[in-house]
Amino acid sequence: MTTTRRDFLTAAVTAAGAAVTPDLSHAHDHDHGHDHDHQVVPSDLTLRVKALESLLTEKGLVDRAALDALIDTYEHKIGPRNGARVVARAWADPAYKQRLLTNADAAIAEIGYGGLQGEHMVAVENTSNVHNMVVCTLCSCYPWPVLGLPPVWYKSAPYRSRAVIDPRGVLREFGLELSGDVEVRVWDSTAELRYLVLPERPAGSEHLSEEQLAALVTRDAMVGVAKVMPPQKEVTS
Ligand code: FE
Repeated sequence: MTTTRRDFLTAAVTAAGAAVTPDLSHAHDHDHGHDHDHQVVPSDLTLRVKALESLLTEKGLVDRAALDALIDTYEHKIGPRNGARVVARAWADPAYKQRLLTNADAAIAEIGYGGLQGEHMVAVENTSNVHNMVVCTLCSCYPWPVLGLPPVWYKSAPYRSRAVIDPRGVLREFGLELSGDVEVRVWDSTAELRYLVLPERPAGSEHLSEEQLAALVTRDAMVGVAKVMPPQKEVTS
């Protein structure tokens, strides 16, 4: 079963209406041994978005189908695999890497990506002694054409504030311990500039094709909260 965004919003609004009624749907099959209600009250933000969408649709300013198509595109068709292809090309082709680092928009467009929320891209390169990580301290600016929609943690207040105050501590929580001699650079995205981290190519990946390289690259590595791990050794059984 697929749940569309509109189903989700409708469900959220319905749940808000029912928020005062305890949800007993779980009561018949198990006993939790605690007394809180298992209903999901939608956030203020969800309700505000719904209200805004209804109003804009009512006034004929927004076409609901177009809105759904746009969101579906970023939810299902555009994602971190795009960025992974950019990274893999940069690893495999030094001339491309140079173009990516000097004019990211044009280099990313060469592979066919661009558009909304990716108009002014900057690629920053991780090396053995420099680690870059990306945040948007104001809101959640993120390079949509190469990474898709931002993950929840990227938009969270703790990440947005702590990435700047204590980047090493945040990276440690992501499981990345950097040695003291590695310089950490934190880039604050804005509506004008979006950053893509070009991770370090892992050892042991020399023999891989561009496609195989792309498969190693994760979203988190391109935001700079992880490294790209070396390829798994082939196991023969
Ligand atoms: Fe932002």
